[in-house]
Amino acid sequence: MLHQNLVGGEWVAGRSVRQNINPSDVRDVVGEYAQADEAQTDQAIAAAREAFKTWSVSSVQQRADILDRAGTAILARKDELGQLLAREEGKTLPEATGEAMRAGQIFKFFAGEAVRIQGEKLASVRPGVEVEITREPVGVVAVITPWNFPIAIPAWKIAPALAYGNTVVFKPADLVPGCAWALVKTLVEAGLPNGVVNLVMGRGSVVGERILASPQIDAVTFTGSVATGRALAVKAVQSGKKVQVEMGGKNPLVVLDDTDMPTAIGAAVNGAFFSTGQRCTASSRLIVTERIHDAFVGALLERLRTLKVDHALKAGTDIGPVVDQTQLEQDQRYIDVARGEGGKIHGGERLNRETEGFYLAPALVTETRNTMRINREEVFGPVASVIRVKNYDEALAVANDTEFGLSAGVCTTSLKYASHFKRHSQAGMVMVNLPTAGVDYHVPFGGRKGSSYGSREQGRYAAEFFTTVKTAYIQA
Ligand code: ADP
Repeated sequence: MLHQNLVGGEWVAGRSVRQNINPSDVRDVVGEYAQADEAQTDQAIAAAREAFKTWSVSSVQQRADILDRAGTAILARKDELGQLLAREEGKTLPEATGEAMRAGQIFKFFAGEAVRIQGEKLASVRPGVEVEITREPVGVVAVITPWNFPIAIPAWKIAPALAYGNTVVFKPADLVPGCAWALVKTLVEAGLPNGVVNLVMGRGSVVGERILASPQIDAVTFTGSVATGRALAVKAVQSGKKVQVEMGGKNPLVVLDDTDMPTAIGAAVNGAFFSTGQRCTASSRLIVTERIHDAFVGALLERLRTLKVDHALKAGTDIGPVVDQTQLEQDQRYIDVARGEGGKIHGGERLNRETEGFYLAPALVTETRNTMRINREEVFGPVASVIRVKNYDEALAVANDTEFGLSAGVCTTSLKYASHFKRHSQAGMVMVNLPTAGVDYHVPFGGRKGSSYGSREQGRYAAEFFTTVKTAYIQA
């Protein structure tokens, strides 16, 4: 079956077709998906612009009802969507099903937010005048998403866009069109009017560039790599678009002498290696104080040896494959870089399984320094390094010594150190005795420094990006 693009409420063939390949089994074709060209992208933008006229002034009840129905439908189909997600992206079935559930919960949350849009009313400093501050939709929003969370990230951008009255041009990542298509289909079935969400699957260099060049796009919300995000932000600003960019991380997990070891090992294994380490919030730098360094590394390596790397849909798999050949090569290149810099590599071998896929054993690099490339650049794979430090003060300094600032964690039983770290970490999200990855859907998500640009996503803070403020002065 050919999955088509959605433009102005019509399913339309693209200019070409792309096969969606299962990274656990490269002979398994998940489906065929349309690829838009520039002209089709223009049509999608025009359809969104047209639909904005009515959707922007639609009743909040109508928006709430549609979002709620979509959320219910996603939750009801979580197993099927989880299967599709695991098949096209390679995270394990439990992780994928959890992600599908989260997408459903996000739609439910923003159904509620639609009827809670708030303003303010103040007395003017001038007698007889009142001042009213209201939030209005921004306009046509482009949603450009990465491959690592094929349904959750589109959900957390599209749901608030719609709740606040915007229309959407959605360009998912090339590698994972399946969940994107299924999500858009669900929205149509939930009663979304024609043109309110338009799906343009296709290449970033074609569809993405066209979106950025279009004066008809008012705002762009992007999650993806650092290089693409930075270039995109510059173009968006140059053309006067509102922009929100979520990019990489080099997230530290600090483990202090007084940690509860099972808690620290659990946080490190989950944060660094689950979802194959392909999370922008992954714990890629494990910063460990010297007294427990050896015990921590020993326990962690023992635990890593028990993890099963296999087909994402197989029961009992802990870590699925890397998403594709390009990413696999990047992971292996970074392992080589770390070795060349003097790091000691544990694991990281290419693995063969029953089916041909991009299987890589989790890699731990010990004996590293924070100045090494392996500790400066995002790998985006099942690769983490250990940095030995003297004490808490050095741990905090090393944790903050990075161009990124998405998530940071500390494992300690000390309230003093936990509180100090929470206050002095330069990350947008701080975790105490928890992995750096794994966040709730109802609170803000985002980073500082080189990790993010623009206002926060998710929770009620999403209103900052998806609305624009109007100040009205009224003399009765
Ligand atoms: P990744 O492929 O690791 O997810 P990218 O930053 O390459 O990270 O891609 C994130 C999203 O940005 C994808 O949907 C991709 O197609 C899109 N993209 C890539 N290049 C561009 C570009 N030049 N302009 C706009 N979007 C782009």
